[in-house]
Amino acid sequence: MAQFKTIDDLDVAGKRVLVRVDLNVPMRDGKITDTSRIDRVVPTLTELSNKEARVVVLSHFGRPKGRINMEFTLKPVAKALQLALGLGVKFCPESIGDKAAQYIAEAAEDEVVMLENLRFHPGEEENDRMFTTQLAKLGDVYVDDAFSCSHRAHASIEGLAHLLPAAAGRLMQAEVEALTAALEAPEHPVAAVVGGAKVSTKMEVLGNLSAKVDLLLIGGGMANTFLFAKGVDVGCSLCEKDLAADALKIIETAKARGCEIVLPVDGVVAREFREGAQSQVVELDSIAADSMMLDIGPKSIADAVGRLQGCKTLLWNGPFGAFEIPPFDAGTNAVAREAARLTREGKLISVAGGGDTVSALDRAGVKGDFTYISTAGGAFLEWLEGHRLPGVAVLEK
Ligand code: AMP
Repeated sequence: MAQFKTIDDLDVAGKRVLVRVDLNVPMRDGKITDTSRIDRVVPTLTELSNKEARVVVLSHFGRPKGRINMEFTLKPVAKALQLALGLGVKFCPESIGDKAAQYIAEAAEDEVVMLENLRFHPGEEENDRMFTTQLAKLGDVYVDDAFSCSHRAHASIEGLAHLLPAAAGRLMQAEVEALTAALEAPEHPVAAVVGGAKVSTKMEVLGNLSAKVDLLLIGGGMANTFLFAKGVDVGCSLCEKDLAADALKIIETAKARGCEIVLPVDGVVAREFREGAQSQVVELDSIAADSMMLDIGPKSIADAVGRLQGCKTLLWNGPFGAFEIPPFDAGTNAVAREAARLTREGKLISVAGGGDTVSALDRAGVKGDFTYISTAGGAFLEWLEGHRLPGVAVLEK
């Protein structure tokens, strides 16, 4: 496993510590609708503050595209951070320059300073050297706790680590350790669940995983494309017919690599994609022309649950069905609950990630039972694709 510095390797007492976090929280009508991202950076900020660091919080928010746009101010997020931290959070309306330096210099000892949205400056996303230098002037040490942004080589993610002594925060550390353990040096047999809407968005994920895992369970709309490629008439299911040849190639490559691809053997179909729509369990040879396959069926659930029994590691991205609309959440719920049970019994290491996956596991009531659930969407997928993430690479010793 690649080595990287953590907070344990830094001397932070009395130092100005620039902490990059991802506080790009969901907001509706000026109200934060989910505080998970705030809650997950509290341990790092609290630890640094307890170690007498002068904490300076850096984040982006939304896509102001390098211009000041108060629709994307971090000010309301600073208030929420103050509540979560139980420490004073002083919001500075600038993110570089004299004013920012003054706010930091004048902050009380146990007060955290939060700077305005970094993306108000084009230099942030451009990883511009001048902008990075201005940011670096505000701190003595840099801590990166924004794994979910680490696929972006931005100034506050990649650039700063070249200019200041740098280390991973606790959330970054936990993410990298969990993902490395599950993907780079896992205990075999390893199973991966890859579900969700479309094969086209997960081609690289399937390619990379087929080289690393022993079992690849494909679900969701993606499975329809694979089934179609194998000659199944999938009616009017979501299906990328033009990717049939690619799907067959993935099956062939996986086989040559010793990875078994597992597809559904039955399904739940409906004529409409809405709650309460009439649904029916069908064998794969009887999907009506006007029906959509919206979940895996009971035989497929039993098959997936059975296969999990011999596995030591599970990676999960994407639901088995259209989980937002019952009853099409049954497949995802049943397999997720079994994975949770095996994890609780210490028989399985289970790591999941990606936006929809987290909410699907949450709905299944198992979010707290998996070994690790990544908060990252894009960065988690890029990791599964086998990419080196610039924000992680730059922290490696
Ligand atoms: P993704 O973002 O690729 O993980 O896809 C998640 C989305 O896939 C969810 O919104 C699900 O409703 C959708 N999905 C899963 N299975 C199916 C299916 N069989 N047909 C249509 N949509 C599906």
